[in-house]
Amino acid sequence: MVSKSKGFSTRAVHAGEKRDPSTGAVITPIYETSVFGFSSTKELIDVMSEKAEGYTYTRYGNPTVRTVERKMVELEGSEDATIFSSGMAAIATTMLTLTSSGDHVVSTRDLYGGTLAFFKDVLPKFGVDVSFVEATDFDEIKSAVQRNTRVIFAETPTNPTLKVVNVSKVAKLGRKRGITVVVDSTFASPYNLQPLRFGVDIVVHSATKYLGGHNDVTAGVACGPEDFMHKLKEMRKHLGGTLDPHAAWLLLRGLKTLGLRMERHNSNGIKIARYLEKHPKVKRVYYPGLPSHPQHSIARKQMRGFGGVVSFELDGDFETTMKFVDNLKLCFLAASLGGAETLATQPVTCSHYYVSAEDRKKAGITDELIRLALGIEDPEDIIADLDQAFNKT
Ligand SMILES: *Cc1c(COP(=O)(O)O)cnc(C)c1O
Repeated sequence: MVSKSKGFSTRAVHAGEKRDPSTGAVITPIYETSVFGFSSTKELIDVMSEKAEGYTYTRYGNPTVRTVERKMVELEGSEDATIFSSGMAAIATTMLTLTSSGDHVVSTRDLYGGTLAFFKDVLPKFGVDVSFVEATDFDEIKSAVQRNTRVIFAETPTNPTLKVVNVSKVAKLGRKRGITVVVDSTFASPYNLQPLRFGVDIVVHSATKYLGGHNDVTAGVACGPEDFMHKLKEMRKHLGGTLDPHAAWLLLRGLKTLGLRMERHNSNGIKIARYLEKHPKVKRVYYPGLPSHPQHSIARKQMRGFGGVVSFELDGDFETTMKFVDNLKLCFLAASLGGAETLATQPVTCSHYYVSAEDRKKAGITDELIRLALGIEDPEDIIADLDQAFNKT
């Protein structure tokens, strides 16, 4: 273990890792095994009853997976962490652990599509109602709270218009009313924001994005207090959203460079946001690092940097926007974010394709909106690619 006073990258490299006693291997091995053997029934019972540390079956726990959990503990500053097979597995398992029939949830309206579908279509089947509120309107969040509200769920920054939630204010409200506050911090990563430091109870991530960082692994994580993590691990056993040890190892490898990668995502983010803001063919830029962003001062207070996602509206229509995206050469036309490669999408044809025109309008998703998920390439080359696409539109 590494002391909490060490720097972020030192923790990202060393935290949670133990030198392999049998071989001295510096890197944690991939324990690609579904089952673990015992030398006696007594030893088996000690592990089963949690009297002794150990592993029985990979759906219950695995040493490679556990190493990632220990590392996440030190990156988010939580008591414990639970790794899942995807971000959606982390979110669904967390919500099903926190709520029961008759409970109520308040959630920001701007949500990842999978989370929105889970809140709208799945939770109500179990008798859990969700009220959706404007992420940036604290009074609306406050007045949506009912007697039976168990969870306030918030995403920050939001997709794709990068609204910023005042996490400290929402955490205080939760504390005062005895409501668990869950923050999906995927777009920030623990390098840019540590919600638990502001009093948030539980933080969840799609580790498929910045944490894995290479567009090659699907995973999720929840971090929070030990007693809740214990319950969450029980629920993970039941629902089965365990991460495969090989994928856990890829995540471990990605996490070591999280600090380095985030510095580049952050600097590419601000450079490209400034470039777009000055471009005559751009109507509007969404980036929390720009002084023109409506929640810029909150973002500056709670975040170390503003990440690699920049959204902007082209001065044009659906056709010209589609043409612009199709003309990009270096940037891939692809969903997702947080990897080494820059990806570009027109949300109306991608993340919000199935969202009704009315709901899109409410969320500010116009036909001319483009989301850039900047990678870690040199900023001059990304700008050159955008330039040549602008010149053709
Ligand atoms: C991608 C994403 C998810 C879902 O994660 P998966 O790993 O794809 O299951 C949840 N929340 C946010 C903000 C995301 O970007």
